Amino acid sequence: MLTEDASILSTSGHGKPAAATSASGPSTTAVHAGEAREKPGFSITDPIFASSTYTFADTQAIVDFLEQKQVREEYGRYGNPGEKVVEQKLAALEGGEEAVLFASGMAAFVGVLMAHVDAGDEIIFFDECYHRSREFCRKHLTRFGVAYREVPTCDYDAMEAAIGPRTKFLISESPTNPHLSVVDIERFAAIGRRHGVATLIDATLCTPYNLRPLEAGVDYVLHSATKYLGGHNDLLAGAVIGRTALLEPVRRLRGIMGGVNSPHNAYLLERGLKTLALRMERHNTNGLAVARFLESHPRVAQVLYPGLTSHPYHEVAARTMRGCGGLITFFLRGRDGGPATWRETADVVDAVRIPRIGPSLGGVESLIEQPLVMSYWNYTPEERVTFRIPDNMIRLACGIEDAADLVADLAQALESTGRDA
Ligand SMILES: *Cc1c(COP(=O)(O)O)cnc(C)c1O
Repeated sequence: MLTEDASILSTSGHGKPAAATSASGPSTTAVHAGEAREKPGFSITDPIFASSTYTFADTQAIVDFLEQKQVREEYGRYGNPGEKVVEQKLAALEGGEEAVLFASGMAAFVGVLMAHVDAGDEIIFFDECYHRSREFCRKHLTRFGVAYREVPTCDYDAMEAAIGPRTKFLISESPTNPHLSVVDIERFAAIGRRHGVATLIDATLCTPYNLRPLEAGVDYVLHSATKYLGGHNDLLAGAVIGRTALLEPVRRLRGIMGGVNSPHNAYLLERGLKTLALRMERHNTNGLAVARFLESHPRVAQVLYPGLTSHPYHEVAARTMRGCGGLITFFLRGRDGGPATWRETADVVDAVRIPRIGPSLGGVESLIEQPLVMSYWNYTPEERVTFRIPDNMIRLACGIEDAADLVADLAQALESTGRDA
């Protein structure tokens, strides 16, 4: 028997069919999925339940809850109503059974692995994955007897050859950051299937608008919702989406590790998600327009953007992705025609007026950075060669400003710094 409380959580409510179904497009899904038709106070938006705990009318109500006769909340670390709305919206957007929301992308990543690996197991990564994800496995999971291996990104044969009897996870990001290599996710998922090994894709850079990894057979999709899903550079969150049977242990462990969102944060994410499809369309068109401009500019030696035909993984991207998002990596030519020095490169970063200088991506505001300075300053030159981070590399995360303004701004930055002093 479901009581009145359950109507807050149900996706339809009051007998009306849900506004978004599995056949709905991405924008209808982003706006409506996971939300009740009727909300407390007849509000169109979801209330923020600013509550750490949830009370019971009497002892029988506790017993009913424990015997799963009543769907409701108990204590904030195990969930809150706003979080459930976001989880259902994300599951609908990815076409997955269930989503588990975390306080950050890293909390989600750590949560999935801690729930599913045991001492003696082994994890295999494509080597361009987010460095903190690899660091967690390489430096920390190994302390608990979990082996860590890396193979070159998109070398599917090397990944398959590395699988052993205790391999538990194959992990990649797609596209990778900052090199923007695009994984053929069907091929990646097929390797996992053939060997009975779980596959996980960190799809932060594409979002469910541009790529649907679960449909390709991947087991877990991970997102830093801090980026495009939240979309406004105003929150941190993370999520993992997949089959309920795989995510139940993750949800239970989250309740113990405690990396949950505040109800206010969950609401901000719900609000950001409503415009996901609209924003991604703009990130996609801005990314392509700016990448084409940069490729045509004499001061730019090379542009990495999967939407350009010159990109090594353009064919895979064109076949599997709706668009390529806002992130562009490019390499600057110096005033002498060779690769720009780190200082010449920094001068261009400093000369732009619209993008703000900072790490991160996926928000409405464009961001620019020189990876050498922002992320690799304390590494040796040899390490930078290994990680393929040259001094003249710039990473630009296009926001949703007008493409013509971004292009004009980059043009003035490239030209004003390109003249001999
Ligand atoms: C930012 C990012 C993460 C980490 O997410 P946080 O929300 O910062 O914890 C993981 N993977 C990718 C691809 C990212 O860009």
